[in-house]
Amino acid sequence: MHYFEYKNGELYCEGLPIREIAEKIGTPFYLYSYNTLVRHFRVFDEAFDGIPHLICYSAKANSNLALLRLFVNLGGGVDVVSGGELYRALKSGADPKKIVFSGVGKKEEEIESALQAGILLFNAESFQEIEKINEIAGRMGKKAPLSIRVNPDIDPKTHPYISTGLKQNKFGIDILQAPEAYRLAFRLPHLKVIGIDCHIGSQLVEVEPIVEALRKLKTLVERLREEGMEIQYLDLGGGLGITYEDEEPPHPVEYAANILDEIRGFDCTLILEPGRVIVGNAGILVSKVLYTKENEEKRFVIVDAGMNDLVRPSYYGSYHQILPVKEEMRKTRVVDIVGPICESSDFLAKGRTLQELQPGELVAVMSAGAYGFSMSTNYNSRPRVAEVLVRDTEMFIIREREDYEDLVRKERIPDFLLM
Ligand SMILES: *Cc1c(COP(=O)(O)O)cnc(C)c1O
Repeated sequence: MHYFEYKNGELYCEGLPIREIAEKIGTPFYLYSYNTLVRHFRVFDEAFDGIPHLICYSAKANSNLALLRLFVNLGGGVDVVSGGELYRALKSGADPKKIVFSGVGKKEEEIESALQAGILLFNAESFQEIEKINEIAGRMGKKAPLSIRVNPDIDPKTHPYISTGLKQNKFGIDILQAPEAYRLAFRLPHLKVIGIDCHIGSQLVEVEPIVEALRKLKTLVERLREEGMEIQYLDLGGGLGITYEDEEPPHPVEYAANILDEIRGFDCTLILEPGRVIVGNAGILVSKVLYTKENEEKRFVIVDAGMNDLVRPSYYGSYHQILPVKEEMRKTRVVDIVGPICESSDFLAKGRTLQELQPGELVAVMSAGAYGFSMSTNYNSRPRVAEVLVRDTEMFIIREREDYEDLVRKERIPDFLLM
């Protein structure tokens, strides 16, 4: 459910016509609906009422400070995967005690900053990282709160690029080696082992793989508890999918119910790290048609947003629904919607039946709130686009459009070249 709807043939975000926003700030831009974001977070959070839990929003899905702050205001924590995301989380006002730090390649400086900030826990992903965190904590005179990310070897049945819980994936510590990793961590003096973690993949459309992962984790925790290790936090990661085209992922309430059935009475705090399911359908990318052209085989609609702004179609072959911002009864056409970038992989959609579009008209690329702006780049020296948040009939620019100065700000021409 979201608040992007037509009223008299005009696409609105909540109470504001999208055309009006485009007239004010130009195109392209990302547009988020405040009330959709709030609703998605609340529905997810409340679905787990009844057991102690913490929702750590996964910053990498969309790390804009305003969105982080919005979830912080709703009581959320943050799941970060880099020093930069940790910086953003703290800057947004997140409670350090609600920040979890995941990722296979945490650098020393990143570990130091996280210890300095006093985060809830590290999700360690290798034996060497466990030792590194211990060493740094020792040097800083601290005890690092630690959880171990276990790779349960479960097929999440999603796109191979976003499946993370199989033996061939780089993530976590193999579940068979996990007891040994726990014993190591438990022995080390500057660690406080408090949790277990897994994240098996993204855009999951079935609940069984996550339940299966949970069962494996529980079995392991029981064994660790028998050995005297107190595991208080069980983190199931994120991964719940959304509808882009015709997928039918479980509703958060159904997803939660399956997890609750399995975990009730297990005596631990459940951590969840949802990203896509919260922000994906709460955001769109608005773009303007520049030109159309056709040959015997193809009709192209060339728009002013490209793969640098939204890489999912070219990178994952992802489907995003394309809607005309002004909907009318017109002749339809089968078209490819493509961007201005000098790559044949620069497309937003292929083979779509759409009303005939004219230069200057606006299109909305739907379901672009997750892994949209956060994966955008400056390729082809294109300034990154603006981000706008709409609440009822008010709009707020939450990230200004970059300009050309921004593109070259960090670049230097060495003196010898200037002779
Ligand atoms: C990416 C990621 C998430 C969020 O995944 P979604 O599919 O967006 O919910 C959660 N936890 C970790 C460790 C991740 O890497």
